[in-house]
Amino acid sequence: MTEPTLETISNLAKRRGFVFQSSEIYGGLRSAYDYGPLGVELLRNVKDQWWKAMVQSRSDVVGLDSAILQARQVWQASGHEEVFTDPMIECRNCNARLRLDKLDDPNRCPTCGVSGQFTEPQEFNLMFRTHMGPVESDDNMVYLRPETAQGIFINYENVRRTNRLKLPFGIAQVGKSFRNEITPGQFVFRTREFEQMEMEFFCRPEDADEWFAYWLDERMAWYVDLGMSEEKLRLRHHESDELSHYSSGTADVEFMFPWGWDELEGIANRSDFDLKQHSEHSGEDLTYFDQEANERFFPYVIEPAAGATRTTFAFLIDAYSEETVNDDTRTVLKLDPRLSPYKAAVLPLSKKAELIEPTEKLAAELRKRWMVEVDITQSIGRRYRRQDEIGTPYCVTVDFDSLEDGAATVRSRDTMEQDRVSLDQIPSYLAERL
Ligand code: ATP
Repeated sequence: MTEPTLETISNLAKRRGFVFQSSEIYGGLRSAYDYGPLGVELLRNVKDQWWKAMVQSRSDVVGLDSAILQARQVWQASGHEEVFTDPMIECRNCNARLRLDKLDDPNRCPTCGVSGQFTEPQEFNLMFRTHMGPVESDDNMVYLRPETAQGIFINYENVRRTNRLKLPFGIAQVGKSFRNEITPGQFVFRTREFEQMEMEFFCRPEDADEWFAYWLDERMAWYVDLGMSEEKLRLRHHESDELSHYSSGTADVEFMFPWGWDELEGIANRSDFDLKQHSEHSGEDLTYFDQEANERFFPYVIEPAAGATRTTFAFLIDAYSEETVNDDTRTVLKLDPRLSPYKAAVLPLSKKAELIEPTEKLAAELRKRWMVEVDITQSIGRRYRRQDEIGTPYCVTVDFDSLEDGAATVRSRDTMEQDRVSLDQIPSYLAERL
């Protein structure tokens, strides 16, 4: 089993159309990326699987899609305006601006190698600012959200009331977040525009520890169920000096990236911090009334907060493998079929019209249910290798015998075994396996 380097993955991503540098034709905008035809499918599948696990399959979680632009008071109440900062230092020798808490050696500049030339750390606020309306002034300054979570807290009462929810319940949201990171990098791992998948699970304060433990298990299981290697996943509990301003307990799900263990998801006990803050700052009563117990209180919140783009990247790295087959190396993305951009490729053995017609007919049938690609160029061996490299679990080859026997050859990506399956049975053959 080969462990890919960061370069191997970013090259594959660019070459096959998963991810492109944003504004590439103008030299590229650092730390923002565009998802190409394959990347958009993979990313969407990751988000869909998260939504399925966190919302669709549960009776105690509902969804939300809140605005990216929110009132400035939201970020004042949440504490972000004051403390959503990272410690920034500058190297006097090469002028590199760096994030102090991410340095291996706090004295030595990783850019130029010179030691002892750092300025005093400054707290740098990570929120992007813009203005609402035609006039740019302090009065209409707003932030692009740096997390999706606050959109949930400010809608807590709207959602609870309109959906008649009783504790414990969760509100889930997937969407873009923006952070003006001091040191973006490692391809799509840390970017300034990214997507998050977050859920706020509201419960009685005395049940919070139990729900925290529950969500740690659930979230670890989600990655494993989608095929991520267990030995490349771990849970790391934060030390008390590492905790965010709102948290009374946090653990990170970490993945073994090419550069070492790093965070995929943070699971935090946010206590009643956010609802209390928003109650105080907005004047709205965000307490919960428990009728049975005849009690009024602020619910506690357990938050599993994952990065959609970062997780997609981790699935890509984990799926990458190189195998030797008959003295040849084949690159295979062993993605779980639920994540694969295309579920099947239909490949006519030749470009002759008599094969194109049944190919298109079959593809049209399969497209009713799945993303399917038709590829008619190059030799069949090269086409198989391309599909292996983009993680397509099944290739269906229509050949000249198909015209006689009304069947085609279905090849599995992982085993490379082939079955002859009659054309009208192919949808059910795939449905059983996908
Ligand atoms: P870090 O300490 O690495 O800056 P964080 O602990 O502040 O990150 P959270 O606020 O817990 O991150 O965000 C939850 C998740 O959102 C992270 O686990 C990560 O998957 C994702 N995320 C956060 N920042 C970025 C970013 N700049 N680019 C891509 N994904 C990100």
